[in-house]
Amino acid sequence: MGAAGSKLEKALGDQFPEGERYFGLENFGNTCYCNSVLQALYFCVPFREQLLEYYACHKNGADAEDNLLTCLADLFTQINSQKKKTGVIAPKRFVQRLKKQNELFRSYMHQDAHEFLNFLLNELVDILEKEAQAAKTESETSSPSEKTANGPKNPQANGVKKEPLVTWVHKNFQGILTNETRCLRCETVTARDEAFLDLSLDIEQNSSITSCLKNFSSTETLNAEDKFFCDKCCSLQEAQKRMKIKKPPHILVIHLKRFKYIEQLGRYKKLSYRVVFPVELKLSNTVEDADSEYSLFAVVVHVGSGPNHGHYVSLVKSHNHWLFFDDENVEMIDESAVQTFFGSAQEYSSNTDHGYILFYESLGANNKS
Ligand SMILES: [Zn+2]
Repeated sequence: MGAAGSKLEKALGDQFPEGERYFGLENFGNTCYCNSVLQALYFCVPFREQLLEYYACHKNGADAEDNLLTCLADLFTQINSQKKKTGVIAPKRFVQRLKKQNELFRSYMHQDAHEFLNFLLNELVDILEKEAQAAKTESETSSPSEKTANGPKNPQANGVKKEPLVTWVHKNFQGILTNETRCLRCETVTARDEAFLDLSLDIEQNSSITSCLKNFSSTETLNAEDKFFCDKCCSLQEAQKRMKIKKPPHILVIHLKRFKYIEQLGRYKKLSYRVVFPVELKLSNTVEDADSEYSLFAVVVHVGSGPNHGHYVSLVKSHNHWLFFDDENVEMIDESAVQTFFGSAQEYSSNTDHGYILFYESLGANNKS
């Protein structure tokens, strides 16, 4: 392990980025699903910075109980403050807390990295919301409640509408989808917004993220048994439905649906399809016509031919270098190696390492505020 560390340091030489730490994470028995996602999140720099700041502000709260947020902030701070530039850290407290919190992650069975990421982000949001709520109750009398542009006209009415709080988890990962349904009889368009922290995309053989996103936003006709209730016509009508991205997130997380339930088999099957993911992505299925540009900075890779066994590793871009994280081990790789994780054009291939969760950061001015 020590030797691998020094090997990485040697490989980077004087190009080793100032202040950066590259640490492998110890595996506690099938915890690679967790390690691979933690590495991707650590190299999501705006998110990491928020966690370091959170730790710095809360470290003195001795009475505070451990939760996933404090454990994650503690882990990131530990990595960030290591004297050595490379090495291995045991994310013990975090993994213990995770297992305590959710029985899904308690077994030694193979876990799904996407399920874990989703659970973690939602859990962080919950904790931040509760903290904000507690802080608000404390200072209720001292500060007048804020007024929002589209807020309810009469906030004192019964059943006070709770304004959703925008936490830094939202600021990093949240985007908004809009689901537009056009009644084919009266042409009325009904739009319903939906927030997301990641996008799950159906995949096809020999496709690309761009084409998967296009399919995601393609127009669907609702007819026959699947008609739409139009409020204006007051009846079921044929309609056209389309999903578009109304507000692209700052960090776009794309989950490829590689695990598909096959009814005839009565079980999940892994789709090893070749799906190209570009390093620079243009998001074109947005409500505004302007393209949003993104740059790939992390990929969680599923290794293996089936859904119930296998392994997770991650590829991370840090300061223009690509690194390969496999639990305790960290290596440098060429950017060209990223394409070996696209998948295979043949159904049976010896290459079983596939991009599973992609992390893109926005380059656009749209998100700078
Ligand atoms: Zn209608």
